[in-house]
Amino acid sequence: MYKVGITGGIGSGKTTACKVFEVLGIPVFYADTVAKEIMCKDVVLIAGVKAAFGNDSYFENGKLNNKHIAGIVFNNEEALAKLNALVHPAVFRAFDAWEETIPANTPYTLKEAALLFESGSYKMCDTTILVTAPHDIKMKRVMLRDGVTAEQVKARMDKQLSDEEKSKMAGHFIVNDERQSIIEQVLALHQQFLKAAEALKSANI
Ligand code: ATP
Repeated sequence: MYKVGITGGIGSGKTTACKVFEVLGIPVFYADTVAKEIMCKDVVLIAGVKAAFGNDSYFENGKLNNKHIAGIVFNNEEALAKLNALVHPAVFRAFDAWEETIPANTPYTLKEAALLFESGSYKMCDTTILVTAPHDIKMKRVMLRDGVTAEQVKARMDKQLSDEEKSKMAGHFIVNDERQSIIEQVLALHQQFLKAAEALKSANI
């Protein structure tokens, strides 16, 4: 099935754009939400996390000890890379399992991931969308949504590739600057993806 990856910086509006695709009947895999869920479900991942960060990574009831993990990976790039190397393949496995549940007559699927390019996940997509928004607007949105300070938002932004870097890898763009209609941009992309998905299907017959 034709796969579209969608990403964007924090507060760019990628989830908002995905909701519009969902209204059009396109199934969306929210990789970041799934990543949190599988931390306590994927046995290979759990074993890997315990081996890398110790048995204290989980409580006796099987819940993730977020404080323990955060304490290790916070400001430790090597440990964070180790954690990502465990989590990303587990998310790929979850995506494959999710795709199996999608009805065959679905034209295409969407995979939303904050680290689509950084994780290498984009290589498994037929095309990608980068959602962009001006820096100040992203700041304002996240501060309002999460009740955090500008410094806290900036610290999160600094952990992601810049839009400039991501632009070099993106196949399509949605500009969510609160002036251009996000709905119209999604509708235009939807038409393009329907055609591309149909072409892929014909080529595979
Ligand atoms: P994150 O990476 O932090 O999860 P995101 O890229 O998924 O962010 P959203 O959650 O879609 O971004 O949007 C961030 C906030 O900005 C939300 O509260 C959303 O309702 C709001 N927002 C997004 N787009 C617009 C818009 N065009 N006009 C007004 N508010 C918007």
